[in-house]
Amino acid sequence: MDKSNENFVKAPLGMKDIFPDERLLWIEMENAAREEFELAGYHEIRTPVFEDTRLFVRSIGETTDIVEKEMYTFGDTPGSTITLRPENTAPVMRAYLEYELYKTKKFQKFYYIGPMFRKERPQAGRLRQFHQMGIEAIGSYDPLLDVETVKVATRVYDRLGLDGYVVKVNTIGCEKCRPGYRAILKEELLQYKDELCELCKARIDRNVFRVLDCKQEKCKEIRRNVSNTEDHTCNDCREHFKTVKGAFEDINLEYTIDPHLVRGLDYYTKTVYEITHTAMGARDTICAGGRYDNLISDIGGPPTGAVGFAAGMEASMIAIVNTRKKEPKSKPVTSSLAPDVYIVSISAETRNRCFKLLNELRLCGISVDMDYESRTPKAQMKIANKINSRFTIIMGPDEIEKGVIKLKNMQTGDETFSEDTDKIIQIVKGNK
Ligand code: ATP
Ligand code: MG
Repeated sequence: MDKSNENFVKAPLGMKDIFPDERLLWIEMENAAREEFELAGYHEIRTPVFEDTRLFVRSIGETTDIVEKEMYTFGDTPGSTITLRPENTAPVMRAYLEYELYKTKKFQKFYYIGPMFRKERPQAGRLRQFHQMGIEAIGSYDPLLDVETVKVATRVYDRLGLDGYVVKVNTIGCEKCRPGYRAILKEELLQYKDELCELCKARIDRNVFRVLDCKQEKCKEIRRNVSNTEDHTCNDCREHFKTVKGAFEDINLEYTIDPHLVRGLDYYTKTVYEITHTAMGARDTICAGGRYDNLISDIGGPPTGAVGFAAGMEASMIAIVNTRKKEPKSKPVTSSLAPDVYIVSISAETRNRCFKLLNELRLCGISVDMDYESRTPKAQMKIANKINSRFTIIMGPDEIEKGVIKLKNMQTGDETFSEDTDKIIQIVKGNK
């Protein structure tokens, strides 16, 4: 097959298929997340994968990387465009507002797991369709909630056996104190203008906080020299942050303060945080979140406090797989693709009986397979070995004539002959 032929259709750039043998970690991660999220009172919400473009522009911010260059936007009905969701906080807020969920209960907690889309340069752990799992607590300004969301994220990671992650926290102030800090930051950064990357030079005027989020080494160096965000926050924000820090200590959740941490989305206020892991290299964030008290009002709703995070699932997985290799103390992934039983049909005439038995066994919750590729009995036995089925059933004219089932345990070699299907089922089930 000539894959370089222009007629050969490949997956779009930055899009990845997830194959059956990779799925175990996905399922493990999703299950751990669902259990921890629900334990903390978050309930699943599923929103569409695309939304009115204006939702993302208004919430994420016009001068962010996401809105400026990473969104997949398409024409829809005349005069409007839709965008594949680059993140899911804004869609959840849109649903909360559109369906007036606040009328039944102002304070609500949601979680989501699903694909997001950003037109980024594909690189290690960075895709154009990637997955995030996240939580959002809406309708409260309580600083303890900020810490609750971080704790929920770390509990998921702890369950998955991830070692060596670091929780970094900062406060970025609110609309009252941010203008003052913005002016100071601008002034300070202008001194380093020549040393900044081209993008950051422009960012000083356009959206100076973005400079603090630049991934270029030279810009990261410079950000160490500018004043801390916390020193320029108002009393209200400072008090809020004090309670956050106290709560981290109360529950013994280890964290470090990163005095220049900001996030790539404009909607954050007060607390911001990241969970990083060294397995990721330069782009080491596996989970990011914070408070976004203005988001709901930005998209037309009443002022509503809210906080949450989004964990990158591909990034988290790279970190987990890396830790497990070094220290396999976490529970190994045990389930496999091997069926419980593989049915070998000795002749064409016995296939119908095999098919019937296959369906009977499946009804009882046993995973069973048989040959659909006209293989010889010998080749079917080979397949049974290759796919590691725990048992084989061999069905020939003899067995049909006598009305028996011949079951072979592939590990011990023990054979059972029985006329009673229930007995066969018991043996297979008892051997799990
Ligand atoms: P970053 O600065 O890490 O690019 P961000 O500020 O652009 O993140 P967030 O929505 O806060 O965007 O990202 C949360 C996490 O989602 C990231 O830390 C990362 O693990 C994951 N993520 C974001 N973009 C991608 C992508 N293109 N491919 C894979 N994972 C991604
Ligand atoms: Mg990004």
